[in-house]
Amino acid sequence: MRNSRRASRVVTFAAAGVVLACTVLTATTSSAAPSSGAAADPHCRPAHVHDAGSVSARLERVPDQKQYSLRQLRRIDRRLDRAVAQARSSGASSRGRSGLVLRIPVHAHVIDGDHANGPSLRAVRGQIDVLNAAFGGGQSRVNASTHFRFYLASFDRSRNQRWYTASLFDASDKQLRRRLHEGGPEALNLYFSAPHSPRADSVVLGWSTVPWRAERQPRLDGVTVHQESLRGGDLRRYNRGDTTVHEVGHWLGLFHTFEGGCSAGNDRVDDTAAEAQPSLTCEVGRDTCDADGLDPVRNFMNYSFDSCMNMFTPGQVSRMTDNWLAYRPP
Ligand SMILES: [Zn+2]
Repeated sequence: MRNSRRASRVVTFAAAGVVLACTVLTATTSSAAPSSGAAADPHCRPAHVHDAGSVSARLERVPDQKQYSLRQLRRIDRRLDRAVAQARSSGASSRGRSGLVLRIPVHAHVIDGDHANGPSLRAVRGQIDVLNAAFGGGQSRVNASTHFRFYLASFDRSRNQRWYTASLFDASDKQLRRRLHEGGPEALNLYFSAPHSPRADSVVLGWSTVPWRAERQPRLDGVTVHQESLRGGDLRRYNRGDTTVHEVGHWLGLFHTFEGGCSAGNDRVDDTAAEAQPSLTCEVGRDTCDADGLDPVRNFMNYSFDSCMNMFTPGQVSRMTDNWLAYRPP
């Protein structure tokens, strides 16, 4: 589909810096775990809506990626620590046979609409190149390298208009995932479509599941991205493929850098400075919390423009490695 709208996305954020896309909360999955206050709050209103043509934000949501309490975050940490210890004691490794890199199979599922086709095989291969550059430390001098690499294991194409516009774990999204999903928790299922947006002037860029739910809901596991967010797509400012990088970061267990706002522990990664709210453009030098360090505006797990985000930190690499060991070893 050729989409001429700008990627004006609507984001609301509470004082704690937690992103809640109020306008899509009714479409979220029943798998959403600990209850979100906003989900049940019909009065939830955008505190900060960006108009089309000014600045934009990533309208995307992860079922678990919401208003966690500190208690819930600590519980996630404890569970992760236990699972990592258990995995290590059983000899599990987060490295591949080569001892250097771990190659993650990607099952790519392109959804075509009745009158529009999704990306080509070549475009999907290009997206995997972007993933490998980002996870291989190649997007900037300060981009920490992970040992994860991605390769295309399968490619399929389905024509289904309801699937084509499915959005944020709605019934059609769950249906297509259940039908198309391949592999186990170690396989990345990537879906490319043109998700319906709840607002005429906004675009849903993507969404992801989290690793600690992969075992319980194996066929829902995976990442969906807007087809026009691929390199050269129509979503201006968001068409260098970094939405997929961001979503795969969630798939490997990362929170947003603004998770928890200025609270201690915020995104559970030590070397990403706390920030009060998402970066929606490229406000390098911004400092929204009293804690040490400038806001991680260029981090892939922020909401900045694709041209702005270019790094993971060593702490994030470590967190992804732990999540892999805990929840995704083959
Ligand atoms: Zn996100």
